[in-house]
Amino acid sequence: YTTFLLRSLGYSDAQNGDFTYTGALDFAADNVGLIDESFCDTNNFLRDNVAAMSLEALATPVKATDIIPGGESTVMRRLLHDLDLFDALRARITEGMPVFGTCAGLILLAKQVDGGVPCFATMDIAVKRNAYGRQLGSFFTNDSFEGLGTLPMTFIRAPYIESVSGGAKALAVVGGKIVAARQDNQLVTAFHPELDSSTAIHE
Ligand code: GLN
Repeated sequence: YTTFLLRSLGYSDAQNGDFTYTGALDFAADNVGLIDESFCDTNNFLRDNVAAMSLEALATPVKATDIIPGGESTVMRRLLHDLDLFDALRARITEGMPVFGTCAGLILLAKQVDGGVPCFATMDIAVKRNAYGRQLGSFFTNDSFEGLGTLPMTFIRAPYIESVSGGAKALAVVGGKIVAARQDNQLVTAFHPELDSSTAIHE
């Protein structure tokens, strides 16, 4: 699982699971020259927050709450299969494990994907990949989130949610597009809350 997370973030060296989760994040942070600043911020956020978890929780992350991070959903979908994680994770999600998908993570949970292929397909949302265009279409805004007030939102080659159905409920709308939703144990945001100082959504 660590390998999946790190390779999703672009660490091609992290191909074996020999180091601990926090050790792997330290390893990644020590090699920030390989990556850009936003990945560095993500690592700092993960390291600060993951460091507080018990060793037992770190050893069995798929039994606890799962965060499916941003990245490149096409690569992540392939890695989930190549690393033999897909079936176990999908089963946990359908059994009710709390899961939070950010950006590409949102795409992996969606039942319908415009511009891509569904992966876990556990959430009744239709999404559009790269919906704001290429990297130059990335943006930051402050907007309201159901029950949490106004929050900072960083969008990086983000998708948006074209429609929610079934048990899925929209939680935030920016510029007329749905950018966050929840369905029972599944929460998704099209933006990256780990890149801003507010931890309200994670909490
Ligand atoms: N554009 C990416 C995708 O389609 C998502 C980008 C991100 O996670 N920040 O998977």
